[in-house]
Amino acid sequence: MANYDKLKNDMAICDGERLGGYATPCRGQLYRCTACGAVGCRQNKENACSKQGFDVAFKCYACGAVGKEELVASGHEASKSAASTAERVANTD
Ligand SMILES: [Zn+2]
Ligand SMILES: [Zn+2]
Repeated sequence: MANYDKLKNDMAICDGERLGGYATPCRGQLYRCTACGAVGCRQNKENACSKQGFDVAFKCYACGAVGKEELVASGHEASKSAASTAERVANTD
């Protein structure tokens, strides 16, 4: 279905492979760590994907920061989630 392909291309999805058992495409939603810039998908188990970036608690695999993730959406780089704005303001000490 053409609409399905377009939707997948417009979103930032993980192109890693699921680990364990047999390899299948992940296609999970990608998140970016605002602390270190790492990008990866989120899985509810550790080492569940070859390009996993976050665990179930949104802890960054690269730097260990928790809750610093933001959705990666292609074509919407300027949009920041309102939820993280207050946190950034409160962070100026
Ligand atoms: Zn993945
Ligand atoms: Zn990080």
